[in-house]
Amino acid sequence: MKCVLCNGKTKQMNAEHKEMGIPLGKFPAEVCEQCGETYFSEETAGKIQQKSKDMGLFGLARKATVAEIGNSIAIRIPKEIANFLKMKKGEQVTLIPEGRKELKIEI
Ligand SMILES: [Zn+2]
Repeated sequence: MKCVLCNGKTKQMNAEHKEMGIPLGKFPAEVCEQCGETYFSEETAGKIQQKSKDMGLFGLARKATVAEIGNSIAIRIPKEIANFLKMKKGEQVTLIPEGRKELKIEI
């Protein structure tokens, strides 16, 4: 097939798939030789989603609103995410800006 993004040629191979930085394994895919974009069949995408659900990763992303408390800004971390990350009250975390559009929280 042809890559939708760059029109390059794709080849069949097993591609590693990660969700939220956690490897889910290798799956058959069409991978663009030019830009590296990975395409999974509908069937494979279904298997990946099932695996992601089994691992408790599926649908974990949440929207949060920025609030102001005194002189600082606060973002509530939903319980599901806190549980997944095993975050506890009083624990120190490190905030690392990854460019101007992303914030990483290291636990
Ligand atoms: Zn491409």
